Amino acid sequence: IKSTAIPNLDDSVNNTEEDEEDVVDLAANSLLNKLIRQSLVESSHRVEVLQKDPSSPLYSVKTFEELRLKEELLKGIYTMGFNRPSKIQEMALPMMLAHPPQNLIAQSQSGTGKTAAFVLAMLSRVNALELFPQCLCLAPTYELALQTGRVVEQMGKFCVDVQVMYAIRGNRIPRGSDITKQIIIGTPGTVLDWCFKRKLIDLTKIRVFVLDEADVMIDTQGFSDQSIRIQRALPSECQMLLFSATFEDSVWQFAERIIPDPNVIKLRKEELTLNNIRQYYVLCEHRKDKYQALCNIYGGITIGQAIIFCQTRRNAKWLTVEMMQDGHQVSLLSGELTVDQRASIIQRFRDGKEKVLITTNVCARGIDVKQVTIVVNFDLPINQVKEPDYETYLHRIGRTGRFGKKGLAFNMIEVDKLPLLMKIQDHFNSSINQLDPEDMDEIE
Ligand code: ADP
Repeated sequence: IKSTAIPNLDDSVNNTEEDEEDVVDLAANSLLNKLIRQSLVESSHRVEVLQKDPSSPLYSVKTFEELRLKEELLKGIYTMGFNRPSKIQEMALPMMLAHPPQNLIAQSQSGTGKTAAFVLAMLSRVNALELFPQCLCLAPTYELALQTGRVVEQMGKFCVDVQVMYAIRGNRIPRGSDITKQIIIGTPGTVLDWCFKRKLIDLTKIRVFVLDEADVMIDTQGFSDQSIRIQRALPSECQMLLFSATFEDSVWQFAERIIPDPNVIKLRKEELTLNNIRQYYVLCEHRKDKYQALCNIYGGITIGQAIIFCQTRRNAKWLTVEMMQDGHQVSLLSGELTVDQRASIIQRFRDGKEKVLITTNVCARGIDVKQVTIVVNFDLPINQVKEPDYETYLHRIGRTGRFGKKGLAFNMIEVDKLPLLMKIQDHFNSSINQLDPEDMDEIE
């Protein structure tokens, strides 16, 4: 047994770390998803559409040509490598580009093509010859605003006279100067300031108003009210679009307050199942024992890539140090890292440069790494009242039925945690078999 630089602490004293780790930063997660997303997320569900006027015909498009876009815009789309509209774009784009403009509330998970859709709408409605703000997009953070701006720049690459400006804190405009750029992307506070206090933006001239990441937005104190104040000052003919990755009641209530007479488009998320996953557990005495079991399993399986989950930051760090000292190459994805650092670790893992990723619950939420074939729960996911956290268990191990690969899951269980594991087994009605870590033939 090796000694490590990090003191050995009993799991039970890690409560403060747990609390710290439990704060989910929605905006950071969303940004992370954007940084690592390179292609569309697939879904086997149908797009659900609720038209404001159910009697009007419902159009969908299978090609970008059908949309009769400006030549330079179509060129931009193809240069980005888009061949055909995504599932949500098939339905959303005809509505967004209709004459007269229609309002839209759209919900689908991150990676399904929402940003590309509203950027296309903004670029197609902008008049490059008019030098004042015409499209306004609200985003929850500076970084997310920049990401959207990058998409505008890429897609608008051939729309040479169209320009973007960021209404974010720290972006100073000299007194007395006008904004000549047509597309403004910013956070609600600064946009409000630029509109009402500094009178830099004339809201009555805005044609397209986009509220992106509505779920993240309402999670931030003050943003809902600020957004509503901005929306109230827009002209009645302004097109209003709202996007969200999730749709709890609170998002829905906000959406209905801020978007008049909307069409609604929803694409349900692919559900996770445990059907394709073989689940095992190894009974252990204590943490060192769990570590030993992990090492044994490790030797036995050389296929694919693995993610190892720990309940706390501290435990994840400890495990990383132990494994490194034993010569295993592992990387640690921790909440202490900046979003950029996290994105680069996930990227390395996805590129196959790292085989093993050690992480905690919060860090891995919402990040799907498709090629992972082995998941290890070094600690079982447990909630505040010391009951199993079923949802997190499913998130860690589950795969989507149609697109997911087969996988293996290992749970390292201290004897006293066994009842919790049995509860998980019952909850999902799927068997978790005991494994003798000395005898890996069982899983072959
Ligand atoms: P969302 O806003 O829903 O998270 P994005 O618009 O950012 O989704 O799209 C997710 C990824 O898919 C991005 O990398 C984007 O460039 C790409 N993408 C979007 N639309 C298409 C399309 N029609 N064809 C191919 N790729 C697309």
